[in-house]
Amino acid sequence: MTTGGDDRLERMLQLLRARGGRVTNARRAVLGALLDHREHASAEALAEMVHDSHPDVHLSTVYRTLDAFEQLGVVTHVHLGHGRAVYHLTDEIHHHAVCERCGAVLQLPLTLFAPLHRRLVDEFGFEVDAHHFAIAGRCAPCRSELRAQLSADPPAAGHGNVTIENVP
Ligand SMILES: [Zn+2]
Ligand SMILES: [Zn+2]
Ligand SMILES: [Zn+2]
Repeated sequence: MTTGGDDRLERMLQLLRARGGRVTNARRAVLGALLDHREHASAEALAEMVHDSHPDVHLSTVYRTLDAFEQLGVVTHVHLGHGRAVYHLTDEIHHHAVCERCGAVLQLPLTLFAPLHRRLVDEFGFEVDAHHFAIAGRCAPCRSELRAQLSADPPAAGHGNVTIENVP
């Protein structure tokens, strides 16, 4: 791993200690897996990674460690589709958009939702937790594929006024 990764691991260990969490070998291994897994990792994927590098660490320990990390504010989870939760270190938070067609995940800046946050609080008194769930939709490549399909397969006579916005 790069020195940057080691620095980040040290920072996360410091955060863990600052929040009153113990640093055990299992916890180090789970943090290491979270850092190595550059994409959005499910609990199952993290447990597998930890088990590969540290066969002595039980799968159930990995799940318990993730729960403990969440309570200590070291990790957070986000649901990317139908309830599928993936884990994140809390030093790098962003919003997510997930393509319902191909599963691609876009990372969106937090600032994007600031105006919506403010309006929900001001007008409804509701504070939204916008990074708990991903916004679902269709990614750019899928949209152009769908558009291409539509033009290759013109609507039957009598339905000539179907527009791209009506594609389900
Ligand atoms: Zn993310
Ligand atoms: Zn897509
Ligand atoms: Zn959740």
